[in-house]
Amino acid sequence: MSDNGFFNNYGGKYVAEVLRRPLDELEVAFHDAMNDSAFLDELNIIRRDYIGRETPLYFAPTATKLLGGAQIYIKLEGLANTGAHKINNAIGQCLLAKRMGKKRIIAETGAGQHGLATAAACAKLGLDCTIYMGEVDVRRQQPNVASMELYGAKVHPVTSGSRTLKDAVNEAMRDWAANPDTTHYVLGSALGPAPFPDIVREFQSVIGREVKKQAQERGIKIGAMVACVGGGSNSIGFFEPFINEKSPRLIGAEAGGIGPNVGENASRMTGNAARDGILQGYKSRFLLDEDGQALPTRSISAGLDYCGIGPQLASLGRSGRVEFTSILDKEALEAVQFFARNEGILFALESAHAGAAAMKIAKEIPADQAIIINMSGRGDKDVFITSPVFRPTEWLDFLHSEIERLENAKDIHEA
Ligand SMILES: *Cc1c(COP(=O)(O)O)cnc(C)c1O
Repeated sequence: MSDNGFFNNYGGKYVAEVLRRPLDELEVAFHDAMNDSAFLDELNIIRRDYIGRETPLYFAPTATKLLGGAQIYIKLEGLANTGAHKINNAIGQCLLAKRMGKKRIIAETGAGQHGLATAAACAKLGLDCTIYMGEVDVRRQQPNVASMELYGAKVHPVTSGSRTLKDAVNEAMRDWAANPDTTHYVLGSALGPAPFPDIVREFQSVIGREVKKQAQERGIKIGAMVACVGGGSNSIGFFEPFINEKSPRLIGAEAGGIGPNVGENASRMTGNAARDGILQGYKSRFLLDEDGQALPTRSISAGLDYCGIGPQLASLGRSGRVEFTSILDKEALEAVQFFARNEGILFALESAHAGAAAMKIAKEIPADQAIIINMSGRGDKDVFITSPVFRPTEWLDFLHSEIERLENAKDIHEA
């Protein structure tokens, strides 16, 4: 838990005056809810019956044999309803909003995964849902936009700035400041102004608590835990019950993109352009230029492609409790193939960064200990990104034939 919104040097609540009241109200409501057994019971039933928890802790025998070292285990968050860990936070915050009497939910989304989870949570809980999404992302991420609309959400394209995630966050903040009484803003990762980093970590820590219990029940000795780090929600939730213990090693895998130069990666802890700064309401580590402006980022995985990292992880990186490593796009792609072929498990590109980091350190950990990889999501969603890399000609043929099929069947929508 933060100390008044701070994790040592990082965190805080650097927002316009109009946002102070909704943030303070949210903080009070959150602490009330977490001490209300009726709220926690309802949340646990939804986790069990709707999300599908607990998710399995899978022993990967072939990977263990091939990598030669630690026993490899995979926490299958990708089996959660909607395909990734993001639903844990979306459901938690939407249930909290309902308890606060709010009927309208807004959220930002970049790649669309958080928008998708929030739209699903709102459909399940009967809440009105608006998703802010940069116009550029709306065009790039049509499959997720289509799913959000199926869940009944309104997707609002943001046309300001670079028309991507950061602008969607600004637009959602503006909406919240104008409508605090009716509306809750479901922030999607363990960052932003306090109390969001505490709230998101708490709702995601169900992952780490399950791992701890599963390992204890099965006598698994954990040597290291590895998670990918975008904003930091799956990693901080996975690490949470272990942070105040000396072991296991906790390892965060950032997006190394195509190389170490500015604009080629999203390495906020290990990168050349990483520095302390204040952006979008909180103090943390960001990729910034000399004037404190956000730098362009790059990653094959849309979910890791962000210029900031959650303040608690920034602090844990500084203290050394969490180690950070950077994984290149091509290493992530290799990890996708390795686990698909050898274990029948299709990692999301984000999660494959954790898989790749585990592959690198497997030999450092003795064979009587385990490395646990958090597979934050499954890879079905990435077929539009991986296919052009793995089988470019066939994929192009497929797209051409799809266009032809649709143009020749203009009445298809009347089905
Ligand atoms: C969004 C996303 C991430 C990155 O977000 P965090 O907040 O860092 O967890 C990682 N994996 C998947 C599958 C995602 O959808």
